Amino acid sequence: MAHVLLRHRDIPDLHKFDVYKKNGGFSAFKNAVTKMKPNEVTDVVKNSGLRGRGGAGFPTGMKWSFIDNKNWPHYVVANADESEPGTFKDREIMESNPLQFLEGLAIASYAVGATAAYVYLRGEFWEVAAILDEKIAEMEKAGYLGDNLFGTDYSLKIFTHLGAGAYICGEETALLESLEGKRGQPRVRPPFPPSYGLYGKPTIINNVETFTNVPMILANGADWYKKMGTADSAGVKIFSLSGRVRRPGNYELPFGTTFRELIYGEKYGAGVQDSRTVKAIMPAGASSSLIVVNGDDKVLDTPMDYATVRTLGADLGSASVIVLDDTVDINWVINKTVHFFRHESCGKCTTCREGTHWMRNITDRIHGGSGTQGDVDLLLNVAKQMQGKCLCALGEFSTMAVTTGIERFPQDFTKAVKK
Ligand code: SF4
Repeated sequence: MAHVLLRHRDIPDLHKFDVYKKNGGFSAFKNAVTKMKPNEVTDVVKNSGLRGRGGAGFPTGMKWSFIDNKNWPHYVVANADESEPGTFKDREIMESNPLQFLEGLAIASYAVGATAAYVYLRGEFWEVAAILDEKIAEMEKAGYLGDNLFGTDYSLKIFTHLGAGAYICGEETALLESLEGKRGQPRVRPPFPPSYGLYGKPTIINNVETFTNVPMILANGADWYKKMGTADSAGVKIFSLSGRVRRPGNYELPFGTTFRELIYGEKYGAGVQDSRTVKAIMPAGASSSLIVVNGDDKVLDTPMDYATVRTLGADLGSASVIVLDDTVDINWVINKTVHFFRHESCGKCTTCREGTHWMRNITDRIHGGSGTQGDVDLLLNVAKQMQGKCLCALGEFSTMAVTTGIERFPQDFTKAVKK
């Protein structure tokens, strides 16, 4: 099947302006601006069933329809702060298929009446920012960005902005604070960005992969898109596959593809290293709950869509599938995730600031060989006490691997503690 998002794998040099244009590039944007009303564009996206690819899976068209039309100006922001350990799909899109992403961002801006759009990139993506700046300049020169586009009264500018390397700035309200030049910490919600976003104005924020779907949906229609994937999760998804597989990488597949096909398919993961058994899967990077596999065929044959993965006790999130085989100690895994979240906690709320601190101290004791069963119980207790009491999702995510790791793989902790 031809790619929808990773089209550069089928079409050489797709990042070049002329090649992109020759392959249908910008016709969806031009068609939208010259022939469609903004709400008609939103309706097509709504009907396609496209859900946000940043992790939450919120319906994209519905989000766009929430924009507050009593308060102007409007903004659109692309969340390009890709920082989740195990996620590396947006980088590939922006490096190799940047114009499709920018076209999607432009279409979204037209749909919600924004005349300025921002791409907020993680601090380390300076090379990606340079690519996007070059592409934005090419679009301006060719008349696809700027004033009075295609002879209409619609005008649009796109700007890139580099963050300073904080994972929390992937959280949409922390991102907005950072974009405004403030310390990147989440806001208390409500109000939500479609009514109170950048500079206090209505703002739509979507992930890079989400925007990249949009030109193809407009060009081919909502029904075409809906035919791929499942009833719950329409379309295609880029799965970032890593861990103990033979061929880690980004693989674009329809929702509903099974874990087995992704991990063992010859064109994808090509199996587990050293032919070991899959012990656990983290389907959403470090923020994941751990899915117990232990070689169970039924789990491996589970289709990957938002609703079905939930039946295994985890969220699909950004679909950063980390495969852990039977050589991996789950006690070691949660020590790593807790250290990560402790480092990235922004410190705004006590639950997460203190909770991640104490989880790190306890997991260090257990992992270092001086822990007791009481420490394992205490670690589980601290993680559970944090749940539902954090200001943003980071605090919640920091507990996912801990609670599911201890509850689902108790043997890895029993053997790690002193008798
Ligand atoms: Fe900051 Fe953590 Fe609280 Fe989120 S949960 S606001 S990251 S301290």
